[in-house]
Amino acid sequence: MEQNGRSTALEQSGAVSLSEGMAELTARVTACRACQRLVQWREQVGLEKRRVFRDQEYWARPVPGFGDPGAGLLILGLAPAAHGANRTGRVFTGDRSGDWLFAALHRTGFANQPTSTHISDGLTLDGVYITAAVKCAPPDNKPLPQERDFCQPFLIAEMAQLTAVKAILCLGGFAWEQALKLAGSMGHKAGLKPRFGHAAEAEVGPFLLIGSYHPSQQNTFTGRLTEPMLDAVLNRARAYLAEPAVTSDSGGR
Ligand code: SF4
Repeated sequence: MEQNGRSTALEQSGAVSLSEGMAELTARVTACRACQRLVQWREQVGLEKRRVFRDQEYWARPVPGFGDPGAGLLILGLAPAAHGANRTGRVFTGDRSGDWLFAALHRTGFANQPTSTHISDGLTLDGVYITAAVKCAPPDNKPLPQERDFCQPFLIAEMAQLTAVKAILCLGGFAWEQALKLAGSMGHKAGLKPRFGHAAEAEVGPFLLIGSYHPSQQNTFTGRLTEPMLDAVLNRARAYLAEPAVTSDSGGR
C-alpha cells in the first residue's frame, strides 16, 4: 500500500482504517501543488502563523477527508480554514466552525466526542465522512473558479471510494453547488436546479442533498444558524438513512 506521512498519521491516530484506495487517494491529495496561488497561501500562513499557535507546526498542505469509510452520510464543506485545518491537518479540526460541527455530530450520535482539537485527539466518526470541495485553504475563504475546478477530481475520487453514501449534507451554498456537480459527474442530474437553503432537500439520482447554513462564526454569532437547526439537519439525514432502500433503475451509483 502506498502511504505517506499523512495516511500513516491518520491510521495511527486510531480514527480511521484506510482502505488501500483511500490511502492512495489521501497520498495524492496531500502531495498536490496544482494551484500556485493556494500553495503559496497555505505555506505562507503556515510560516507566519497566528500568534496563539506560534509554537505549533502548521500542516500547510492540502487537507483530505476524514471519517467513516463506510459512511452513509457525506458532509461537504467549502475549504480548510487557514488557522484551523490548515494548521491541524484534519478537516474542520481546530477552528470555531469545527467546534460547532463536531459538537452537533456528538449530540446526534455521529461522533464519539464533542470536541476536535488535533489529529490525535481520539475523535472517531460513525456513519459520517467529512470533506471539503477545495482541499487547500484559500485567502478570504474564497477559492477561484479555476481552483475549484482543479480540485473537483479529488472530490469525485473520494466519492468513488465512499460507496455507501446516500445523503450529502452541504454546508453552505458553495458546497451545494459542488454536490450538484459531483452528482452530475456521476450521471445524475437534478430536473429543475434545486435552490440552496437551510434544510432544503433535493433528490439527485441515488443521493439526497440536504442544505445547511455553514457553521461559520458569521452565521453562529448572528443566530442565523442555531444548535437546534444544525441538529435538525443531521437528524433528518439519520432518519433518511434509516429508511428502507428503494430499488429502482435510478438507485445505482
Ligand atoms: S486546491 Fe486541490 S487541486 Fe488545488 S493545490 Fe490544493 S489539492 Fe491541489
